[in-house]
This record gives sequence, structure tokens and C-alpha cells, in this order.
Amino acid sequence: MAKTTKVIAIANQKGGVGKTTTVVNLAAALSARRRAVLVVDLDPQAHATLGLGLEKQPGVSLYPVLAGAKPIADVIQPTKWPNLNVIPSEVDLAGAELEFGAREDRLSMIRDALAPVKESGAFDYIVLDCPPSLGLVMTSALAATDSVLIPTQAEYLAMDGLALITSSIDKLRTGVNPSLELNGIVFTMVNSVAKLTQDVIGEVREHFGDKVYETLIPRNVRVSEAPSMGVPVVFLDPRSKGAEAYRAFAWEFMAKNPTRLAPALQPAAPAAAPAEPAPAAP
Ligand code: ADP
Ligand code: MG
Repeated sequence: MAKTTKVIAIANQKGGVGKTTTVVNLAAALSARRRAVLVVDLDPQAHATLGLGLEKQPGVSLYPVLAGAKPIADVIQPTKWPNLNVIPSEVDLAGAELEFGAREDRLSMIRDALAPVKESGAFDYIVLDCPPSLGLVMTSALAATDSVLIPTQAEYLAMDGLALITSSIDKLRTGVNPSLELNGIVFTMVNSVAKLTQDVIGEVREHFGDKVYETLIPRNVRVSEAPSMGVPVVFLDPRSKGAEAYRAFAWEFMAKNPTRLAPALQPAAPAAAPAEPAPAAP
């Protein structure tokens, strides 16, 4: 059967724009729709790992796989929720930038590490949470991915930040990853009544057209509270505005990024994952 695992990197060189929040809640919402998802936490701060309810554990990250010390299967961890798995991060990954900088295969190292998992077809989506810099790990992640999803805030100079990352995408495309696509741009922490917000969204839509997701993620206090509980907001408070927006976003994302429905990896949902109302057809 054709392998249709899609690899998506969630990236923006800027910190604090909602990358990790988008990784955690997109992955959670996809898993609730019975898509098998693997989150790969590539940020040594390990916020995606913690946000999915896992602890940081020495030796359990992509680092030993990149170093050739462990097979990738040894670092894939289940979460409390079915279909939702993670390769955690930990502090060792911070050393990767320097330690692997001289390797000849440094740009393809993440792609090579993920290849057996991608080829196994066990997952519909592999979602990479990138660190906030244009360093080696992010570049290697962009070399490993089918497409890049860019979360951004609708604020002054948003276009400048988008120009920087899309030019990195263009460079990778003419080099190590010719099939790299811009998956899309998603606005996070939106305050929809502000005039500046509307102006920025309009400007970005004018430039990037239908690459901009329709769904706007609002600023919502429940979203910011969820990480400290180690539960994605779509599971913690499914009725909150933030959870509703991330579910709608995941629906839009699935429509744009279809995969063969991979067989469920784990048995039926435990009580921790509340049943989800079926969203309206897009
Ligand atoms: P990044 O990974 O780009 O650094 P995060 O996803 O960690 O960004 O988000 C930065 C901060 O903003 C975090 O404290 C997070 O909880 C908060 N945050 C993200 N999205 C929202 C939102 N929609 N509403 C409120 N707070 C948010
Ligand atoms: Mg982050």
C-alpha cells in the first residue's frame, strides 16, 4: 500500500508565536479524529513534551538516534491518549547544534533518522516542533519535512518574519529538499477586534493567498493554562474558545493534507480523552 505519512514541520525563527501550542493541539485534535500522530519535540526547552504530559528523561529524545546510539523505535513514547505519540526532548538536544555541526550528513540527519518511521506507515502525521532559531536543528528539520506550517501573530512586522522563514524555505528547496512545500500560515493569539490585527491579516492574505488558514486561533486564557497541567487544551477544556479554534483548524488542516487513515495504534480512548463532537463538514 502507498505510504502516505505526511511530515509537517511547525516553524518560525521567532519564539513565543505559538509554535508549540499549535503542535500540541493540532496533534491532539488529529489524534481525536483517529489519525495516528507522532510529535517530534526538537526544542531542548521540551515544552511540547511537557505539554503532552510527559516528563523529560535523560537519553529519551532524538539526540541518541542522531548520534547513532539508539534505534528510533526506542525513543517513541505513548501519551495518555490513543493515537498520540511523542519523541520527547531533553537538554542533550541543545548540544546537537555544536556537536553535529561538522557532520557531512548534518542536513539530512533528521530525515535519515525519521525514514524508518515514515516508511513503516504507522503514522498519518509526523509533526516536528522546531526550536526558535534558524540554526542547524531547524534547518535539518526543514530538510526532513514534506511541508512547513508557520504560526504567526498578527502584529506589526509579521510580514518581515514571514519573509525571513519563506526565504529559508526557498533556499532548502533549491538545495537539500526540492519538494519542500509551504503548508500554510496560521494566525495565533488573535485579538480580532484590533484594527492592526485586521490590517496585518489582510496584508498577509494578499501576499500568501490561500496558503493562509481560514481558522484564526484566538488569544484564550485556557490555552495558556493547559501546558502547566500537561494536557492539551482540546482535551482539558474542549468547550473553550481556544479548543474550538484548534479543532476547527485541525479539520481544515486534514482537508488540505489528506492521508490514508493509518490503523489505530492503540485500543479505544481511555476516560481521559473526552468524546469529541463531530465538526461540521468543511
Ligand atoms: P513558541 O513555541 O512559538 O515559542 P508557545 O506555543 O510556547 O510559542 O507560546 C508562547 C506562549 O504563549 C506560551 O506561554 C503559550 O501558553 C501562550 N499561548 C500560545 N497560544 C495562545 C493562545 N491562543 N492564547 C493564549 N496564550 C497562548
Ligand atoms: Mg516552542
